[in-house]
Amino acid sequence: MTPPSGQSLYIGGQWIASTATDTIAVVNPATLETIAHATAGCATDAASAVSAARRAFDDWSQMPLADRIALLQRVSSGIKARGDELAGLITAEMGCPIGFSRAAQIGLPLGDIHATLEVAKTLEDKVIGRSLVQNDPIGVVAAITPWNFPLHQILAKIAPALVAGCTVVLKPSEVTPLDAALLAEIFHEAGTPAGVFNLIIGGREAGEALVSHPDIDMVSFTGSTRGGRAVAEIAGRGLKKVALELGGKSANIILDDADLDKAIPAALGQGFINSGQVCAALSRLIVPASRRAEIEAIAIEAAKGWTLGDPADPATRLGPVANQTQQAGIQQAIKGALSEGAKLLTGGAEQPANFTGAYVLPTIFSGVDSGMTIAREETFGPVLSILTYSDEAEAIRIANDSAYGLSGGVWSGDLDRAEAVARRMHTGQVILNGAGLDLAAPFGGVKQSGLGRENGRYGLEEYCSPKAITRPQA
Ligand code: NAD
Repeated sequence: MTPPSGQSLYIGGQWIASTATDTIAVVNPATLETIAHATAGCATDAASAVSAARRAFDDWSQMPLADRIALLQRVSSGIKARGDELAGLITAEMGCPIGFSRAAQIGLPLGDIHATLEVAKTLEDKVIGRSLVQNDPIGVVAAITPWNFPLHQILAKIAPALVAGCTVVLKPSEVTPLDAALLAEIFHEAGTPAGVFNLIIGGREAGEALVSHPDIDMVSFTGSTRGGRAVAEIAGRGLKKVALELGGKSANIILDDADLDKAIPAALGQGFINSGQVCAALSRLIVPASRRAEIEAIAIEAAKGWTLGDPADPATRLGPVANQTQQAGIQQAIKGALSEGAKLLTGGAEQPANFTGAYVLPTIFSGVDSGMTIAREETFGPVLSILTYSDEAEAIRIANDSAYGLSGGVWSGDLDRAEAVARRMHTGQVILNGAGLDLAAPFGGVKQSGLGRENGRYGLEEYCSPKAITRPQA
């Protein structure tokens, strides 16, 4: 077996060389050093992978559910055993601080598998009306994923797809091919039947070749709204099912009875974690106008705890962003906010002193209104905007005044009051008083944030096609 170097493709149970000669440089964003050259897989590679997945489909979909569950359990053990290696690769590829990589970048994919296996039994046949309803697997799935939580986004798709009986072609982000290649090795060592899991490394060209391939039955895409729209258009021509997990500009409402000393520092974390490169980042902080000065002072103080550092150092809380393209885009957004009249509380667009990599200062704006670009467009960096409201109805109106609807937060001294506000937010999920992510619950968006849900029972159902078998009445 070829060691996973990011230079090969895993198709039909074997590592093979791409037919293409183009390569993609994998660059450590902290040092700007090239750490590997990955194959830029092409349409021919995509077609080979789809054929392998199609050939494997009949046997895999007919395999007993218990055997499919057992494979995912072995994969979970493999991820645990090689967790430090995977975390190290993710930190080197996209700059996530190593402590957070070990905890979240490895903990979340393990949680995805666990949450899927917990609900696997819901796939069993049911009697509905006069019919027997069988959950058929939807077929061959193309899983296309981004770089910000690379393994989490992969497992959130392929764990339910494989348990449902689908076969998979994975195309991870070209920014983070190395952890995906190691995952393929884990699948191989877990005894995955040939063709059930296939890996194509490459960029948009490989992604589009997969989406347009007639033998792909479903595309599950996580990435930018721009990419999702392109995928939906191509998939629409073939009437393929799509699930889209896209961008966000999520609101965090601080109600006037919230404990500000607790809520504001925690709200900074909800915006800055993973350098703000979180689709569900709560990047709009919506606060009572009467308490603005107090909140600004707490935010400025709390921001001092978000110091930049080397992501390989376990003490680092805030690393670089994923690459220099991201960095330039975020710096541009900061300059745009300044030119539109937002008040800079801390941070800014300059290259942080003593750092040559793709670093961005943790930045907080106040005096932001809903019309400003910084309040409307996803920044995908450590940038938080404070907007003010005069009453609860206005807070909800501002929160819902967005093209996106992925996540949200509410902070209050009274959880029932927070829940009543959450019920009126037009979004896929709402976190009350900083509660952590619940992987058993559905995750996904409304409006420009996407279509469909991941995680738990709802995530598993995305990969199933219910078939009703009806006998004549006795
Ligand atoms: P991206 O859209 O540039 O790329 C995502 C993936 O899609 C990559 O694998 C890329 O190669 C591929 N791709 C891009 N264009 C394509 C096309 N036309 N056809 C087929 N494949 C294509 O996104 P990114 O920069 O990697 O990730 C950041 C974005 O992802 C942010 O907008 C973020 O909000 C979003 N995101 C959403 C979620 C969610 O669950 N809603 C989670 C994480 C990230």
